[in-house]
Amino acid sequence: MKKQILIIMLIIAMLSVFGCKPSRTAGQDGKLNVTVTIFPAYDFVRQIAGDKVNLTMLLSPGAESHSFEPSPRDIITIQNSDLFIFVGGESDAWVERILQSMNTDNMSIFAMMDFVDVVEEEFVEGMEHDHDHDHEEEEYCEDAEYDEHVWTSPRNAILIIRSITELLCKIDESNAEFYTEKAAAYIEELQKLDAAFYELIAGAKRKTIVFGDRFPFRYFVDAYGLSYYAAFSGCSTDTEPSAATVAFLINKIRAEQIPVVFHIELSNERMANTISEETGAKKLLLHSVHNITKRDFDSGIGYLELMRRNAGALREALY
Ligand SMILES: [Zn+2]
Repeated sequence: MKKQILIIMLIIAMLSVFGCKPSRTAGQDGKLNVTVTIFPAYDFVRQIAGDKVNLTMLLSPGAESHSFEPSPRDIITIQNSDLFIFVGGESDAWVERILQSMNTDNMSIFAMMDFVDVVEEEFVEGMEHDHDHDHEEEEYCEDAEYDEHVWTSPRNAILIIRSITELLCKIDESNAEFYTEKAAAYIEELQKLDAAFYELIAGAKRKTIVFGDRFPFRYFVDAYGLSYYAAFSGCSTDTEPSAATVAFLINKIRAEQIPVVFHIELSNERMANTISEETGAKKLLLHSVHNITKRDFDSGIGYLELMRRNAGALREALY
């Protein structure tokens, strides 16, 4: 890790020594170069800007987002960006270091967490609390205490999209009308999605969901008034629960007759499988849109479709 950062610094130093400082006004085709770290930002920009920009996602489809480290090629891509969008949380803490070592005078930098009200990571009853036995991890978590999964609430997604659109219009005035119209149409769809979630959850028989997995949906459940039990917080890098944690979730499902146990995308699903087998609760995916599979990526699936599928899964869990 340290070695990798060192190599990256070297490459940046070499770039400036040899004077191949990229021109950042736009790509050779006259389009803006927009680089994003993870999939929600990728999809938002794609919806707003279509093919008016050269859009690059650093994370590969199907890859785990929390352990992502930039390659030397990624660093060059960032350096060549007119607009760089990242989350601003613990998973992309590397961004600050990288940007500090670059000339960013002509680069617009956008952290999604700066445009919504952030909340701290929370530990609910029964959740695995790695603070007790791993001091290093405790500091890691408490350092980065804000929950980074801001995009999981469609209301936050709308705020982020509005802000990205404003910025795009400012740095690329010639396409401002295009961006504004595309964003307005997309936001209208997201508002419908928001209304659908609101109605679905307001009218539900149950208000509690159970996760045999990490829980990155804090902003989502806060927005619609759901409560939850989960094995791990969104911050956790742990995926092996203790027997007590699994037993707690199994008991909750039995006591409250909860029909569904959720897992998140790109999960090993082991814990959800165990809980499902033990309780008879159906195992379902609630997609937190960190990243998507290569197959979904290639077929153009995005935030809206994934969230609509989530609505279907929630209906099974709450009614
Ligand atoms: Zn996450």
